[in-house]
Amino acid sequence: MAMHFLRTAEYRDICRADIAKLSDLGIIHALAEVRWDSVDMQRCPDPSCESFKSHYWRQHRNQWRCRDCGRDFSVTSGTPFAYHKKSLRDILNGMFSFCVTANGISTIELAADLGMTDKSAWYLMGKLREVLVRTRPVDITDGIVQADGGWFGGKRRDANKHGSGLHTEQRETAIREKIEGAPSGRQRRKKHMMPGGKENARRRKRRRCVEVVRELHREPGKGARRTIVSVALSEHEKYMISFIRKYVPDGALIMTDESGAFTPLSNWYEHKCVVHSREYVNDEGTNDNQAESYFSRLRRAEYGVHHQYTPLHLFEYAQETAWREDCRRQSLKTKLIGLLKSTLTLGKANVYRGYWQGNRLKDEVLNC
Ligand SMILES: [Zn+2]
Repeated sequence: MAMHFLRTAEYRDICRADIAKLSDLGIIHALAEVRWDSVDMQRCPDPSCESFKSHYWRQHRNQWRCRDCGRDFSVTSGTPFAYHKKSLRDILNGMFSFCVTANGISTIELAADLGMTDKSAWYLMGKLREVLVRTRPVDITDGIVQADGGWFGGKRRDANKHGSGLHTEQRETAIREKIEGAPSGRQRRKKHMMPGGKENARRRKRRRCVEVVRELHREPGKGARRTIVSVALSEHEKYMISFIRKYVPDGALIMTDESGAFTPLSNWYEHKCVVHSREYVNDEGTNDNQAESYFSRLRRAEYGVHHQYTPLHLFEYAQETAWREDCRRQSLKTKLIGLLKSTLTLGKANVYRGYWQGNRLKDEVLNC
């Protein structure tokens, strides 16, 4: 049996020791090469100049001086990491941690790893997530698409006492069932959950529906290759259909589950449906397992890494997971260089610029 890709040497083509071996100047050169695709030429970031040549190197400032307009610039000028206070080594190590983890890394863990405050670590990862949001794929050109919606954030809390919230008789039955053995574990747990309660009402308000469309690989058995996500207030038809119509061209083949939100799809698309209460794949091979696979990773990141998603930042996390799914078969170096390239060629940060001066994301990102 073939070895899993993540266990091969091909996947582990860079490690943290390789970053440690680089000198500070070596890191600048490595980043410059990724940014300008050149070992000895740089592009002046001044919008009115943009001259691309071998500029003067100012050794003591680790900057270049433009031969044409005289502006000084560094490898991070005009990028989300312009005016960075943390060293480039810390930033690169943070990016490596971001790439090497399967479901993401928590702020506290990264802060401990890099020896910085959790606020600095949050800021660093916020910038990376902003890069992923702004460079996300937005078109699905051909092929078969799977779509679905899943609920995230605002997890319901179980009752303290078994059967709270039930009437006395029901509670007695519940407790007796608990002692004597109830019909099935799943049904029993469901019954004993506290559906109402102030705390859960508050939590319910923080629940959002993450919508996903995934374009399948042309070769069967290779999974999905492109993922587009959005966040909506519910899995209602109006949100789901407008999201799919926005990104999937007419005439595509769409596979979904039996949810009523997808019923109108057959007006524009070839719509196939799998009934999840019966089966995960029907006899024709219709399934939405790639969409479920995305939700699985997002759920693991929610429960296992971040422990909660707030509605304000849910879209960033959803996009991060979409990126993780899309480059799951890339080697570590390809992933890291891809992320670096997007970061260094994107332009300045919008949301995470001036964070220390109080600039924050104001509203949650819905239906985008
Ligand atoms: Zn210039």
